[in-house]
Amino acid sequence: MAVERTLSIIKPDATARNVTGKINALFEDGGLRIVAQKRLRLTEEQAKKFYAVHAERPFYGELVAYMVSGPVVAQVLEGEDAVTRNRAIMGATNPANAADGTVRKAFGLNVQENAVHGSDSPENAAIEIRFFFSDLEVVG
Ligand code: ADP
Repeated sequence: MAVERTLSIIKPDATARNVTGKINALFEDGGLRIVAQKRLRLTEEQAKKFYAVHAERPFYGELVAYMVSGPVVAQVLEGEDAVTRNRAIMGATNPANAADGTVRKAFGLNVQENAVHGSDSPENAAIEIRFFFSDLEVVG
């Protein structure tokens, strides 16, 4: 297994409920290290661009509105097999289907307001990290 980096976002439902620290404890306990982090409010244009891959899905408009509804925490997680490891710690997209002990089981509200985003491949991780961070801002 190689050391990888992946892009994580703590979404507006979780920042609103003040649980960013509890969520990050699960990432850290799961073997991931936060090597970059910023709290920001996405513009509609940025949210549309970030989720452009979902533009044809029926929930796209709702998803964009939700992602701009409050602050998010964008972060880079580093560790062995970080992309897959992060997805395992996050749990299934729908919190109702997420395994016990996962972030989405503990903190997700529903299939849309599901607390966290995580890159789904190393290729997308590189693109998504670049969306939020410059090389100078990622410090392992
Ligand atoms: P994941 O975030 O687990 O990779 P997807 O890439 O399929 O899942 O979806 C991206 C995001 O879109 C989800 O995390 C969730 O916030 C939202 N989403 C997915 N499916 C639905 C749905 N059926 N209705 C509303 N929002 C959804």
